[in-house]
Amino acid sequence: MRILKMASIAILGSTALTAPALAEDSHRIVDEPLELSIHMHWPRAQGYGVGGDANQIYPVELAARELTGIHLIDETSGKNTTDYNEAINLLLAKGDMPDIVGGHRVKQPFNEFGPQGAFVPLNDLVAEHAPNIKAFFDARPELWSSIAAYDGNVYYIPYLPDGKYGRAWFIRQDWLDKLGLEQPQNVDELYEVFKAFRDNDPNGNGVQDEIPYFGRDWEEVLRLLTLWDARTSGSDTYHDFYVKDGKIAHPYSQEAYRDAMANLAQWYKEGLIDAEIFTRGSSSRDYLLGENLGGATHDWFASTSGYNVALADKVDGFNFIPFLPPASANGVRMEEHRRIPVKPDGWAISHTNENPVETIKYFDFWFTEQGSLLANFGIEGQTYDMVDGEPIYKDEVLNSGRAVNAQMWEVGSQIQRGYPQDYRYEWQWTRDSARKGIELYDTQDLLVDLFLGVAFNKDEQAVYDKHWPSIETYMLERQQAWILGTGDIVADWDDYMAALNKMGLEDVLEVMNSAYARQYGG
Ligand code: CA
Repeated sequence: MRILKMASIAILGSTALTAPALAEDSHRIVDEPLELSIHMHWPRAQGYGVGGDANQIYPVELAARELTGIHLIDETSGKNTTDYNEAINLLLAKGDMPDIVGGHRVKQPFNEFGPQGAFVPLNDLVAEHAPNIKAFFDARPELWSSIAAYDGNVYYIPYLPDGKYGRAWFIRQDWLDKLGLEQPQNVDELYEVFKAFRDNDPNGNGVQDEIPYFGRDWEEVLRLLTLWDARTSGSDTYHDFYVKDGKIAHPYSQEAYRDAMANLAQWYKEGLIDAEIFTRGSSSRDYLLGENLGGATHDWFASTSGYNVALADKVDGFNFIPFLPPASANGVRMEEHRRIPVKPDGWAISHTNENPVETIKYFDFWFTEQGSLLANFGIEGQTYDMVDGEPIYKDEVLNSGRAVNAQMWEVGSQIQRGYPQDYRYEWQWTRDSARKGIELYDTQDLLVDLFLGVAFNKDEQAVYDKHWPSIETYMLERQQAWILGTGDIVADWDDYMAALNKMGLEDVLEVMNSAYARQYGG
């Protein structure tokens, strides 16, 4: 093999014309086409094909077939439901599984049913046949630890997001300018700014109709809690556990949460937060910005920065820009949200697969330079061009008026296979105002370490399943009531904590911590 490779390099040097054919040969896994069936279920598509339609084969799949010789054939269960849990349960009940199982939030079932024999352990396969996957995780060993099951084996290759920042604080800079205000640098200044937005008619229509703070996802109202030094989640999933002093804790059973929530409830009562925060839904950002009503939010850098262009002609002077997280009551500037480096999404090899070596080599293809370009940017010459060694989207992709990620999903890129995301994909459609915001964020040390999750053994899983769903439901019910002004969190706190403990919170924390210690060597 080594001699062949060196010979190839020698030929490449002598005549550039042969380069494409040789490059393809280097990714070839099988001489004759090998068909592997796949389950691929995720929110954007219930099946492996454009929009989930098996008859509309992704252009990226066609290119991968040509390069590798592996042909993926859609065999997705649960095509009639968008519920990923239901889909995976249907698949597991079927018994006769496809060769590859992939999709959204599959880590838990992989790590529960892998050790029981439903999926193939990948440790040796990766070590022996997947040099590119191995190199990725050798450089990030904590990510390999995070995806392992309780038996120490790894059963799936994850989707690995790239980039640092996710959400940011955004404010109507033109409203600040109009009212003669500076960007708020701490929670007290933010309070004064929000009151000014509420009272001083920054949209200039003579009506007190401004909504100082709003959220497209209602959970973003909770993010204000961080301004009083509480936490809302340890990961990019809302309401998640977090690591506190080396142990797993839950944000909603902390005294810092009690005190921060008391402040948040007061802000809500004073009309500084959208009164319809729990009900307005996902169109609230479009609506409240488009109608010149919303003052500030906490949302994604890239998508939120697009409104300055979209609303330039509609709202006079519109300027919605990122600002630094205001310093908390204790003087800490923190951005709690960030991109998680590893997702519970990706793909695994099922026990029915008769070609595990070819399959892991195929998984490895997506971690090669060429595979990663396909997985991130689509087809060279169609969706992007290489310019000075950089993949650059074509103008018709960047300026189509449609989101770039949605266009990628249609060609089969940025879908939930196991692959390393390339942030250059998103940077290209991040507007100047957001790029400036990212540079601003980079002037500070804002990010905190993430909790990357644990894999339970059977007993731990049983404890968690028995107690956690009802505890979380209760926490969220009480949380909403306190924000809306039903009850007083300080007065209710002791009863609340007693109820959580009666419901089994301490048992849940115990299994979380035993699993955490096993997984991360704590
Ligand atoms: Ca007004």
